[in-house]
Amino acid sequence: MKKIISLISLLLSTVSVAHDDSNSDKKVFSEVVVTESVSMLQGTGGNIGLLKGEDGLLIIDDDYKVNVGALEKVLDRKEGKPRFIINTHWHHDHTGGNEHLGEYVTIIAHDNVRKRLSTAQEIKFFGMKIQASEKPALPVVTFDSSLSLHFNGQELKVVHYPNGHTDGDSIVMIQPANVVHMGDHFFSGKFPFVDSESGGDVMGMIKNIKTVITTLNSEVKVIPGHGPLSTLTDLKDYSHMLETTSAIVKEALDEGMSLQQIQAKGFPGRWKSWGEGFIDEKKWIKMVYISLKAGEHS
Ligand SMILES: [Zn+2]
Repeated sequence: MKKIISLISLLLSTVSVAHDDSNSDKKVFSEVVVTESVSMLQGTGGNIGLLKGEDGLLIIDDDYKVNVGALEKVLDRKEGKPRFIINTHWHHDHTGGNEHLGEYVTIIAHDNVRKRLSTAQEIKFFGMKIQASEKPALPVVTFDSSLSLHFNGQELKVVHYPNGHTDGDSIVMIQPANVVHMGDHFFSGKFPFVDSESGGDVMGMIKNIKTVITTLNSEVKVIPGHGPLSTLTDLKDYSHMLETTSAIVKEALDEGMSLQQIQAKGFPGRWKSWGEGFIDEKKWIKMVYISLKAGEHS
């Protein structure tokens, strides 16, 4: 009973944070200053990149739908309404604000983001069914491989990295600010979610991360899809984790072990802390397993 009561009070407090009063934005979003013109907003969904300056505001991703009012208040306190939104991929913890903000902001994303938002989606891994989005939520500018935006004295290079976290992920480089928004290709310090039903693939993610690393310099500030503001070293550690843990699963598979046996054995202790986030060790092993099995048949 105690458990039920505390669950109810947790739900109620979540609702009040989401819909409430003038202070709700402060409760939902915290701001991390990245450079003079770039900030990172952390709410309850994916990290938002924010670029401000003489041309106005631009944001990269817009958190959950339930947080859009709080996000608008944060933006209002800056320089008013954003002119552009870049979506790194379709997941609703990154595009939830689209439906409301899309009424007056130009949304930009890869072709596959529009395709997936336009149609019903299913993420069986979490038992989730997602309805098609309303028209204002859909990106109006879409691209195939890359796009450049010239705004506030910066060039934002939006590059599609195929079949990593999903099939529609972009990574956004901002120069000369020397900031990169990685989207969900990067869960800093944690095992990532790889959405194989949306065309994601662990091996593709490893390849993409290695490619991105070759384009970055040691001073770059790295905004992950989830987790704290990071460095190139953090991204390299993550890349190393992806490769090493995937190799462990592959070796076990080659030895004839079942998924359950591999999960029961787990990883060496040094990888334990990576499983303390959204994706625990067992789920990560399953995702690697799914990608390896899919690779065998392709
Ligand atoms: Zn995602």
